[in-house]
Amino acid sequence: MSEEEAARQQLRAFRQACGQFVTGVTVLTAQEGDHVHAMTANAFMSVSLEPLLVATALNRSAKMRQVLQHQPNFAISILNHDQQYWSDKFGGRPATQAEPVPVPVPFHGVDGRYAVVDEAAAWFLCTAVQEVEAGDHILIIARVSRFGVGYDGPQPLVFFGGRYYHHLDEERETEWLVLER
Ligand SMILES: Cc1cc2nc3c(=O)[nH]c(=O)nc-3n(C[C@H](O)[C@H](O)[C@H](O)COP(=O)(O)OP(=O)(O)OC[C@H]3O[C@@H](n4cnc5c(N)ncnc54)[C@H](O)[C@@H]3O)c2cc1C
Repeated sequence: MSEEEAARQQLRAFRQACGQFVTGVTVLTAQEGDHVHAMTANAFMSVSLEPLLVATALNRSAKMRQVLQHQPNFAISILNHDQQYWSDKFGGRPATQAEPVPVPVPFHGVDGRYAVVDEAAAWFLCTAVQEVEAGDHILIIARVSRFGVGYDGPQPLVFFGGRYYHHLDEERETEWLVLER
């Protein structure tokens, strides 16, 4: 096997291994002049409670990165199970859903500077405070100024092994699981 082919195989195996980690799907939105720029990202984590910080990761070539270099405010919307169409759309992919939903782009403004996806399972209004260069991606650490759970009885859109899942198998516990340290 050539070195090139071995490297390709390793990359595939790495993606497959990372794909075993179940995530939700977010849409990042940022104002670019009069226009809202949107991008799908499954890289999302909560980082700190004091202050409230979250992180995402952007490919170096993502247009969203350039947008955030001009102004640091953006929103993160966690998609609900019914929003696969928008994940594909803002991920620059052809629609994978059997019946695409041809509705207008579903944003609403919050606090003048932010646009949030309608009926998102949850949303966060953020300001990027730190960038960490990490190979072909940039980690963006952002301070959260407001957040909300915006959808009644949310079921998140789930991403696993490169595919979407719409329903969690187990019943939800009635109380939140709080991890205390
Ligand atoms: C499930 C999933 C998870 C992903 N996770 C990540 C990740 O964590 N990190 C990462 O870097 N990449 C991730 N990607 C890939 C990333 O979403 C794409 O590479 C995306 O195209 C990068 O966006 P961009 O900022 O470069 O802008 P573009 O590619 O220019 O824009 C994204 C798409 O959204 C459309 N669009 C943007 N704004 C609007 C608007 N206002 N109205 C209508 N259409 C609009 C554009 O036409 C384009 O089709 C993920 C993709 C998917 C599907």
